[in-house]
Amino acid sequence: MLSFPKHLLDGYLAFTSQRLPTEQARYRELSERGQSPEVMVIGCCDSRVSPEVIFDAGPGELFVVRNVANLVPVYAPDGGAHGVSAALEYAVRALHIKHIVVLGHAQCGGIRAFIDKIEPLSPGDFIGRWMSMFIKPGEQVGQRDHETMIDFATRIEKAAIFRSLENLMTFPFVRTQVERGELHLHGAYFGVAEGSLSVLDRTAKEFRSVRVEVGQSRMASGE
Ligand SMILES: [Zn+2]
Repeated sequence: MLSFPKHLLDGYLAFTSQRLPTEQARYRELSERGQSPEVMVIGCCDSRVSPEVIFDAGPGELFVVRNVANLVPVYAPDGGAHGVSAALEYAVRALHIKHIVVLGHAQCGGIRAFIDKIEPLSPGDFIGRWMSMFIKPGEQVGQRDHETMIDFATRIEKAAIFRSLENLMTFPFVRTQVERGELHLHGAYFGVAEGSLSVLDRTAKEFRSVRVEVGQSRMASGE
């Protein structure tokens, strides 16, 4: 216990004195009945982009898997150990999740490392190999003429959400449920600086910002 970070112990004390009393009944019920979240969030490991904080979710509400750059691999039943695929299988087949949200974000370090090809990226490194699944064989990712680095990064951060949504449909158990109308796939993008959220309009293939007005939220067109 001596080396356990003190601020975490302090945080736990705050949790037991403030939040736990209001949620104790909910925790007990979840313990007895098990979890039955309706939403799975596939987000980034980034410490600034916590789905439970952004969506103000309580215990038992979100089934979350986080990885570098919120990527979903292509369905590959090859005998390997696939963490995201295992979480997905559990969420869809055991928990009967109704919505999957791929949550990308601004200033994503994984995306930046990928497009900058900065250290420690090399073919043998974990991040390099992980990020390479974002790209289809032969596909080129490059900065466009007159595109700033920030705009380039934003474009690729959003492209990663599209690719993850595309890859989700390669899982037969996901595709079947989506086609039956029992599972819905969504994309969202979090702007770290403003705490802004944009939600993907999949028909228009555009992200639309969620503008929060007094006591309510509404969708607006544009980024
Ligand atoms: Zn990230």
